[in-house]
Amino acid sequence: MSYKNKKNKLIVISIIVLLSKLFSNSYSKPLKVKVMIFDNVKEVTVSLYNCDELLVSTVKTYSKIKIKKPIKIFFVDKDTISIGNKKFKLPVTLNCEDKIVVNKKIYDGEIKIYPAKQSKSMRLINIISLEQYLYGVLPYEIEPSWNEEMLKLQSIISRTYALANLGRHKTDGYDFCSTQHCQIYNGINIRLVQKIKKIVDSTKGLVIVDKNGLPIHAYYCSSCGGEIEDISEVWNVVISPKYLQHKKCNFCKTSPYYSWERYVKKEWLKKVLVSKGYKIKEIKGLKIISRTSSGRAKQIAIISQQNEIVLPAESLRSLIGYNILLSTKIDEIKVFQDELYFRGRGWGHGVGLCQWGANFMAASGKKVIDIVRFYYPTTTIKKKY
Ligand SMILES: [Zn+2]
Ligand SMILES: [Zn+2]
Repeated sequence: MSYKNKKNKLIVISIIVLLSKLFSNSYSKPLKVKVMIFDNVKEVTVSLYNCDELLVSTVKTYSKIKIKKPIKIFFVDKDTISIGNKKFKLPVTLNCEDKIVVNKKIYDGEIKIYPAKQSKSMRLINIISLEQYLYGVLPYEIEPSWNEEMLKLQSIISRTYALANLGRHKTDGYDFCSTQHCQIYNGINIRLVQKIKKIVDSTKGLVIVDKNGLPIHAYYCSSCGGEIEDISEVWNVVISPKYLQHKKCNFCKTSPYYSWERYVKKEWLKKVLVSKGYKIKEIKGLKIISRTSSGRAKQIAIISQQNEIVLPAESLRSLIGYNILLSTKIDEIKVFQDELYFRGRGWGHGVGLCQWGANFMAASGKKVIDIVRFYYPTTTIKKKY
């Protein structure tokens, strides 16, 4: 290569690097996301919404199947499935002119079928635009009857959370699972679709960003019980970003979960502990050993005649059940003959934005940006596309 050619090549590369730096914080074309909707299933029932022809493509074939009533898709063997009475080699892509219904859930976009990790079963992945993904997240991550400003905020939060976590399940070939681990995604809710679309479309491309213009880790919880938790108390992070640190929240007092009481049978908890490999004969008591900066229980000792088992409070919460022990913000534990009594506050891990608090602020006339600045200090909202 001549000197001149080399020089030209260098100039071209420099321009590309410069341009990619300039545009790296924005998205020029609609972003597609892959969401795993069913895993390890041997069969699913498929029908169509607003159309009657299912387009089925494989690496080598393309066919159309008329569907008048729901049909079954079966896993046949390691690389073959059957749709109706026809066989197809995996991976298979399903498309139609409107929406595909799988096991009564309604999906936009296309659906790809792969062999699942567990033998003799399938994994279904829904490929949709980020905005379509939000149509299927919003009704399940927030109460759709809440204040409109709060619904707008939640759509911005869910978009931000998704962008910061893109490729979270990359090693398994998709971006997000459809459970609480990522965000709950159940496809289109026909009853609410008009309302939800209007909300999501009104915030199209809006993302909460940090000082470098990057999407923040927009954690949120149902209700904090009066104090937001510092992220480092819940997950292993070296430095908590300013927007995920401990602070007071005076806005969630109207939450039905602001304070709660729960009773748990001692014998039942003992069985759960034994099934997880802990050696314990009888629970004599429960004691909070340490607390986090927001006053949540950090470590809890389970006391028996013979020994003391010390558990992180979050682990005990997961053993008892996230919907029973609503948070680790436990103010009191009492031990009775057969039962344990817990009195606590808030629902969820308590990190980031408190949804009940934010909804209260929205209902009191606060705007999306005011609520973002309160719960995620040092951040702002930018239109990314
Ligand atoms: Zn996940
Ligand atoms: Zn709160």
